[in-house]
Amino acid sequence: MAHRIKDGDDAYHEIDKKPDTCPACGKGISPITCYSYGVDTWRRYEGFLQVVYRCPREECNRLFITSYFPSQYGGINDTLYLNKTFLLDSVEIEKFTESIAKISEKFPRIYNQAKIAEDNGLDTIAGPGYRKALEFLVKDYLIKTNPKLEEHVKKVQLGDAIKMVDDTRIKSCAERAAWLGNDETHYARQWEDKDMQDLKNLIKMVVDWIDLVERSKEYESSMPTKKSESAK
Ligand SMILES: [Zn+2]
Repeated sequence: MAHRIKDGDDAYHEIDKKPDTCPACGKGISPITCYSYGVDTWRRYEGFLQVVYRCPREECNRLFITSYFPSQYGGINDTLYLNKTFLLDSVEIEKFTESIAKISEKFPRIYNQAKIAEDNGLDTIAGPGYRKALEFLVKDYLIKTNPKLEEHVKKVQLGDAIKMVDDTRIKSCAERAAWLGNDETHYARQWEDKDMQDLKNLIKMVVDWIDLVERSKEYESSMPTKKSESAK
C-alpha cells in the first residue's frame, strides 16, 4: 500500500511501503514514522528519501532508518521505493591484543561481524559467526606455531584441528567452544543449558590462553637463562 510522507522541508513524497519487520528485534511490525528527509528525490539515479522509523513494540522501541529510491524505470510514476533499512545504533567493537591480531588477522574481523549481528538481534546468524571466528583462530594459531602443519590444518575439520593443539588449557577451552559452536550450526541442540554467552566466554578464554602462552614464549626467548651471579 502506498503512503504519503511529509518531509522535514514540508515536501510530500509518495513511498511504496513501510518496512514490515523491525531490524532490531526481528518482529513483524507496523513502524511509527518519526522524521523524513528527501535529497533530490526527482533525480532518478542520485536522489533518495531517508525515513526514520521507530519500532512500536514496548520491549524494543529502537529507531531505524530506511532509504527510498526513485524508480529507475522513469515515467510519470514518482513513487519512491523502499531500498534498504539500517539500524542507527552503532556496535561497540571488541578489541583484541596485538599478539592475537598477529596470530590471526581474520579472527577479530569475523568475531566482530558476529557481534554486530548479535547486537542487531540476528542471533541465528551470530552463533555460526562466532564458531567461524573460533575456527580461524585455532587454525591460524596452529599454522603460526607449527608452519609445517599448514596444508594439513587447512583441510581438517575444526575438531581435528583442536586435537593438534599442544597446550592443554587452550585445547580444553577450544574443545568446549567447538561443542557449543556446533550447537549454533546444527539443527538439534545438544547442550540445552548452555547458550551463545557461554560460547563467547569460551572463545574469550581461548583468546586469553593463547595470548598468555605467546607472551610467555616471547619472554622465554628474550630471557633464555638466568644471568650468572657475577653479572649481578
Ligand atoms: Zn523492534
